[in-house]
Amino acid sequence: MKRAFIIGHPISHSLSPKMHKFWLDELGIEGSYEAIDVAPENLEAELKRLQNAGYVGGNVTIPHKEAVMKFCDEIVGLAKGKTKAINTLVFIENKIVGYNSDVYGFSKNLSSNGIDFDNINSCLVIGAGGAAIAILTELRMFFPPSNIGQSNRIIYVTNRTRDKSAYLSKEFECCVIDWDKKETILPSVDLVINTTSLGMKGQPELDINLNDLRKNSIVTDIVYNPLETNLLKQSHSLGIKTVDGLGMLIYQGVLGFTKWFGVDPSTKEGLLEKTRELLVKNLS
Ligand code: NAP
Repeated sequence: MKRAFIIGHPISHSLSPKMHKFWLDELGIEGSYEAIDVAPENLEAELKRLQNAGYVGGNVTIPHKEAVMKFCDEIVGLAKGKTKAINTLVFIENKIVGYNSDVYGFSKNLSSNGIDFDNINSCLVIGAGGAAIAILTELRMFFPPSNIGQSNRIIYVTNRTRDKSAYLSKEFECCVIDWDKKETILPSVDLVINTTSLGMKGQPELDINLNDLRKNSIVTDIVYNPLETNLLKQSHSLGIKTVDGLGMLIYQGVLGFTKWFGVDPSTKEGLLEKTRELLVKNLS
């Protein structure tokens, strides 16, 4: 029986165990996916224990996404470059291989909601944390930096702590917008992405007035609890297309599940839709 895990601190809030157990059941795979609370000081020892116990790998969540990188023998794909966080581990023989599946989850969520990056010329990324870095890594695939100055394709970044957005502007060749002036750029953006934790249950709201955003723009929030954040509610009321963050969670999970258990859950017809229904019911 293949065993996978999610490690974090705390971990009881995570929806990932529900999702992966559902996929194991629906796909008839004999396996497990366990939530394990790991305090930061125990991370290295716990990884060794999981490896020795024969786990196939697992997910990594807050606060270990960055710290776990130094225990990886190999970092694959986009996670190797500018992305400074790992959320998926695969144990192969004696090696720990790290991936960042948020990168894939983000763009797959948009594309499965009918968003075509070819039709987007400019984005505003709100936030400059780990998720913002993953998203910028992905956006840069669709918005090559060489296009800056040659066309209108441009990425703006705004963050409460300006130093962090200034750092990202250098790494990803973006334009920094002051946190308290972010609304001024709205008339010229096609896609607004909230990557902060603002709007999440128990957190303050994201304070932004979208009145100046064009009606054919798109707003996406990677916060998924609540499913319809105030940012998305406001966008709806203005008639602006929205994409919520639950699909990103589901698609990032698809990548790990496929690597651990050898079956891609998105290939079973209707399974991801049923997964979404299940997770919505489990949002508290
Ligand atoms: P992180 O690295 O801690 O970054 C947090 C970001 O939120 C920073 O930009 C931070 O700004 C900003 N922020 C926090 N509190 C703020 C406040 N009171 N006012 C203004 N800005 C504030 O976290 P992360 O890993 O990027 O995750 C961010 C959110 O994305 C979390 O809610 C997480 O659950 C969600 N997420 C969702 C998915 C998904 O699958 N849908 C995947 C990954 C993450 P400063 O730099 O100024 O502190």
